[in-house]
Amino acid sequence: MSSKLVIFDNDGVLVDSEPTAHRVMSGYLTELGYPTTLEESLHHFLGNAGRNVHQVIADRYGGSLPEDFTARCHERVFAAFREGVAAMPGAAEVLAELRLRGIPYCLASSSDHAWIDLTLDRAGLRDLLPPGAVFSAQDVGGVGKPAPDVFLHAAAARGVAVHDCLVVEDSPNGVRAARAAGMDVLGYTALTPEQQLVDAGATGLISRLPELLDHL
Ligand SMILES: [Mg+2]
Repeated sequence: MSSKLVIFDNDGVLVDSEPTAHRVMSGYLTELGYPTTLEESLHHFLGNAGRNVHQVIADRYGGSLPEDFTARCHERVFAAFREGVAAMPGAAEVLAELRLRGIPYCLASSSDHAWIDLTLDRAGLRDLLPPGAVFSAQDVGGVGKPAPDVFLHAAAARGVAVHDCLVVEDSPNGVRAARAAGMDVLGYTALTPEQQLVDAGATGLISRLPELLDHL
């Protein structure tokens, strides 16, 4: 496989933000009377950026959440991120290696720019991902994955054809978005069972980020 642009998801691929985000979210849901474990939160909401939480609570409990749940939850998650966010193992090394080899790369995320900036900053990845290499669903009218929009936008902005892009994604929705964009996608199995990524259409799998280098 030869690729001209590597596109990374952020949460759960470059930054280890998911355990923190879901610890906060499950705690908040439990506080509101909907007992939710960290594992349940990861299972239901990973890669959804909290967008379908109202639906899940309606389906599971026949209940409803405050209108501003997502905004309040984000405030709590941001406060936790300010305390620190780790990079995923090998993330800095892989980005540095791509830069060294002259292989272009960028980031495309459903999260908004404030979230991306804060996590990259705390994880120490900012220098490896300058603003021109960071794309958010915010840039495409807030349309997140599994819609292909943010990936298509990143490829167009970098002037690369979709079939010359290789995406790295950890969530089924992210894999679906990449496939819908017509891109090859490596499913990163750090947080999601391999089969779910295969079922979503992953064209390859990696269990550690440095394995990406074997696919270029
Ligand atoms: Mg992700």
